[in-house]
Amino acid sequence: MRPLNHRASTLRRRVWRPLAWSLLLGACTRHTPIPQSRSTPEVWIRHVHVVDPVDGTIRHDQAVGIADGVIRAIIPSGNMPFATSARVIDGGGHFAIPGLWDAHVHLLQGDDASAERDAGVMLSFGITHVRDMGSSLDARTRFLERIASPGVAAPRMIGAGPTLWAFSLPYGDTQQQVLVTDTAETEAAVSRLAEAGVDFIKVYAGFDSTRLPRLMRAAAQHQLPVVGHAQPGMSLATQATLGLRTIEHLDFDTFQECMTPGNGYFDRVIAARFRNSGEAIPAIYAEFANRVDTPDCQTRLRSAALAGLVLTPTLTATFMSRADGQRLRNRLPEAQRDGCDLYLRQFDGVSDEVGASMVQARRRLVRLVAEAGIPLLAGTDATTFCAAPGASLVLELQMLADGGLSPLAVLQAATSLPARVFTSLDRFGVLAVGKQADLVLLSENPLTSALAYASPVGVYTRGRWYDAGALSALRQRE
Ligand SMILES: [Zn+2]
Repeated sequence: MRPLNHRASTLRRRVWRPLAWSLLLGACTRHTPIPQSRSTPEVWIRHVHVVDPVDGTIRHDQAVGIADGVIRAIIPSGNMPFATSARVIDGGGHFAIPGLWDAHVHLLQGDDASAERDAGVMLSFGITHVRDMGSSLDARTRFLERIASPGVAAPRMIGAGPTLWAFSLPYGDTQQQVLVTDTAETEAAVSRLAEAGVDFIKVYAGFDSTRLPRLMRAAAQHQLPVVGHAQPGMSLATQATLGLRTIEHLDFDTFQECMTPGNGYFDRVIAARFRNSGEAIPAIYAEFANRVDTPDCQTRLRSAALAGLVLTPTLTATFMSRADGQRLRNRLPEAQRDGCDLYLRQFDGVSDEVGASMVQARRRLVRLVAEAGIPLLAGTDATTFCAAPGASLVLELQMLADGGLSPLAVLQAATSLPARVFTSLDRFGVLAVGKQADLVLLSENPLTSALAYASPVGVYTRGRWYDAGALSALRQRE
């Protein structure tokens, strides 16, 4: 039996303290419901307009009370307690949104120092969560250990570890890729990844209608979600029904069921990029977008949406315009500029008109999937090609808006949708009492402009506040 004084202190902690706190707030709060605080805020961020990405409402001039990294109260600023020992941060009348996600990054492919630098830059753009789509297990473990120390400025991360391949390993790096060709190899690989603590499995290529269900069964035994590229020989609806939680990229593979076999688009792009075939890549994409935009394809995409497909289009990886690519190139560390130059080479000797057809193809494809009702996640593929950390998410959100997504859908793509899709993370993605205090301040209203994300003026995450000065210092690492 526990001693009486334990019961008394428990009573004090669980009942009287919250009650006293509620009464204090209640005395000041005539017009708003009394928040159910479990703990007294240690930090208040006041004078912010709280944007709700789920219903698109804005509560003006609020104070957000935070303790232990969790939101304990959201009340009108005027109703804040007069006497408080908490730290009070002036939100300056800016818009508060949940921390942003980049749902498709490759943060851990270089050395530890560049991962940490890129992570800090991402945080400076309001990215408080990333989904890493492929790394060695060692790199993943080292990064998680480093960001666990409170002084390190970095987003939270969920990661796949090595990606799974079903037919060959094109890059030959067995630390970052695993080949599985039969049931035994599949089960062994998934067990090893589960044991290493990965957050999900990423399938890369070759998982046909025999191999994908086999992998799904193995992953289900360890309660691991499976995400990845569109796989061959199956409709998107079938892949979603089999349990592929998200499908990555808006590219030829994504639309394979809308095209006749042997269309050759992929080979033509490879030949143009690496073998100087002379074809203009933007023109290939324009032809492709024109070819798939049919009533039959629209019907198929609607079926995929009904089957629960969620897509990460990573537009920055495939459809960046020449001007955007050149702009982002300046932000890339020297070591990553070669990849960007390779991407930009597709515009060499290409007229402005043909170059612009890349943008038109992008708009058409985004509209096609969005109108089918497929939810779109914001992910950038940073740091491949010209996708600079952080800045590429700003561009990705603008490109989603440019493709016809409403400002609310754009906000959801980087906040509430990832929190819903990666279900174990449902304590993120919205600013509400009981949710994790990952919060970004924007000087513009994101519900009126997709440009609002360009330059956050404050970020609160993992119990730490970064003001505009701290964010700009992190950005200097670019
Ligand atoms: Zn990728």
